[in-house]
Amino acid sequence: MFIVWGTDTKRKDYSSIGPVICPNCGSYGRYNVFKTYRVLTFFFFIPTFRWGTQFFAESTCCGALYALDKEIGKTIASGSPVEIKPEHLTLIRGGAVQQAQPVQQVETKTCGNCGAQMSTDSLFCSNCGTKFES
Ligand SMILES: [Zn+2]
Ligand SMILES: [Zn+2]
Repeated sequence: MFIVWGTDTKRKDYSSIGPVICPNCGSYGRYNVFKTYRVLTFFFFIPTFRWGTQFFAESTCCGALYALDKEIGKTIASGSPVEIKPEHLTLIRGGAVQQAQPVQQVETKTCGNCGAQMSTDSLFCSNCGTKFES
């Protein structure tokens, strides 16, 4: 007898949870909760054997992917309301977090006449009009 079989990784999506404050980027978003599991498929047969179930939560704000606590995942899968807290999440893949722009350090020089701060490429003090020597 010849049996064709293989394994397949399936994904099941659940309704999104939110709004939540994303631990990754700190903004309001929602979690798209889904799980993946592996199935053993036999040719002509409906997959019957499942294992390796893992729940995930993907934030909609920055696309960060978290591994979700299994018990919380099961609660969501059963349709019960649940609050996802940061301690239930393990960051797998950080999203595109908007890095705070570094404050532009503009080199300045001080006008010898009035003490105003001017950028170094200024030729005249815009406060008192004194010409800078350069
Ligand atoms: Zn985020
Ligand atoms: Zn000046």
